[in-house]
Amino acid sequence: MGRMSSNYKRLTAVLMSAILMIFAAIPAFGQSLIRDTEIEETLRAYTDPILRAANLQSSSVDLFLVNDPSLNAFVTRGQNIFVHTGLILEAETPNQLKGVLAHEAAHIASGHLARRDQSNRSAYGSMLIAAGLGLAAILAGEGQAGAAILAGSTQFGTLDVLAHSRINEASADQAAANYLEITGQSGLGLVQFFEKFRYQEVLSNARRYPYFRGHPLSSDRIDKLREVTSESQFANVEDTDEEAFALIMAKAKLIGFIDAPQTVFSKYPETDSSKPGRYARAVAYYRAADLKNAVKTIDSLIEEEPENPYFHELKGQILYESGKGADAIEPMTEAVRLKPEAALLEIALAQALIEGGTSPQIDQSIDLLKSALRKENTNGFAWYLLSQSYDRKGEPALARYAIAEQSFAMGNYQRARSFAQRAQEGLREHKAQSRRASDIIVISGAQLASNKNRRR
Ligand SMILES: [Zn+2]
Repeated sequence: MGRMSSNYKRLTAVLMSAILMIFAAIPAFGQSLIRDTEIEETLRAYTDPILRAANLQSSSVDLFLVNDPSLNAFVTRGQNIFVHTGLILEAETPNQLKGVLAHEAAHIASGHLARRDQSNRSAYGSMLIAAGLGLAAILAGEGQAGAAILAGSTQFGTLDVLAHSRINEASADQAAANYLEITGQSGLGLVQFFEKFRYQEVLSNARRYPYFRGHPLSSDRIDKLREVTSESQFANVEDTDEEAFALIMAKAKLIGFIDAPQTVFSKYPETDSSKPGRYARAVAYYRAADLKNAVKTIDSLIEEEPENPYFHELKGQILYESGKGADAIEPMTEAVRLKPEAALLEIALAQALIEGGTSPQIDQSIDLLKSALRKENTNGFAWYLLSQSYDRKGEPALARYAIAEQSFAMGNYQRARSFAQRAQEGLREHKAQSRRASDIIVISGAQLASNKNRRR
């Protein structure tokens, strides 16, 4: 198991108390949202063309990855698509995954989830922020480290089911087929996917995968979908090699992080020298506290693909989580150089630099975190790290301001207001932050008042 730094443990405690406050009233199912640039990018590459075909603005549709082995994908109000890791692992081809994503996009585009609930949006926004870096801290058996307890997609799934109807399902299938047609892709993946899980129909509802509770599969439904998709001129279009390989690598990474190391070693034995085999094993070695083999294995991948940012990222993560923060700086720097647009990579490098702790390193961490926050301005973890950097720099007011932002992003208005108030006095020379602190005080106060009224 990777060891967490004490900073991380402290952070976890901070996050968890905040998260538990947010969701105190909602039963938790032990699920967590996970963040991973590589997997997010893979999913986005599959999803964005479909969203455009659905006349949705891809930038306003958020994708969330839920660490849950059950097969599920669902949408919630506010244009959010949730994908379970179980769905990714069960999808045999990108085309199958795209089919499911297209179907979910159709529910959004058709307004099948018409009941808007603003609070949902902010709640999920908070979880995204609260989720930690990469997969390791979250999945490496460190309890709920870095992860937010998701308020149970099961519960939200149930809400979705209420909105689902056979008519909506049929129309979402047809729309999905249409989007895939517009993008020049085959719709047969969705048919294959449904065929594969047709056996689920004979199970009682409770024993079905959550996905098929909301999406009952009738022969009629599958037949209709097959009819329309097989007539398409793109029926036989296959995924590109890159797309197929990206899915294989995403699966290997997920398996490496999710399965017990022994299971990983039997799924990807030493004799398997393929890239996905080594990728999964590198993660499993590190989780089995075999740092030497973990580094050796990831180094072999870096040697073959020195331009792959995720190999450098994983190496940095392995080193950082194994208590070698200073050694993590070099690979993390390389990952950022290769993918400067990825906020999570900048945050990971900043984290390692903070552990380094020299004055130039702290300055660099501040620059990186500011850059990351320009891309993800409600990333609570980045705000938290920024507060640490300011603390080290002897800037207590800016540190408190950053904690106010972190708390605000996570919906902890009490704490946000209190830290913003405490920050304000020292922010006279920091006009922008001072204005923002005032806003946080006002908005948090209004939120707290309206929460009070709602409870009454
Ligand atoms: Zn559906």
